[in-house]
Amino acid sequence: MRVVQGEFTLSTRRKLELVDITGRVENFVRGSGVRNGICLVYLPHATAALIANEHEEGLMEDIIRKISEEFPHDSEWKHNLIDDNAPAHLASSFMGSSRVFPISGGRLVRGTWQNIFFVELDGPRPVRKVFLTAMGD
Ligand code: ZN
Repeated sequence: MRVVQGEFTLSTRRKLELVDITGRVENFVRGSGVRNGICLVYLPHATAALIANEHEEGLMEDIIRKISEEFPHDSEWKHNLIDDNAPAHLASSFMGSSRVFPISGGRLVRGTWQNIFFVELDGPRPVRKVFLTAMGD
């Protein structure tokens, strides 16, 4: 079995932001040499999340609005007493910081309306990391 790891960085410009990383993940999978297996996309961050959904500007704004509604800043979060970013930690906890995708025929498998997004929850940040692991034959 082949195991190939990689990483890349990105920067964000807003407090809440969706960054489409589909192309970078697909390039990694293509270059990994894995024909059939899985690809783990993992964020080593407590205030970011990873989702797979449609790259449509309206929907992307809807997702950000929903995150803001579910995790409002002006609630009495205890973490805000020491770090002032409780909503970002909460949203990351509920959305998750990793996803696993199948690899088939040397390509990452995803639905037509499933782009891969890094979700910034506590930006802007100059450096955010994405770790990739392709495993298989
Ligand atoms: Zn914090």
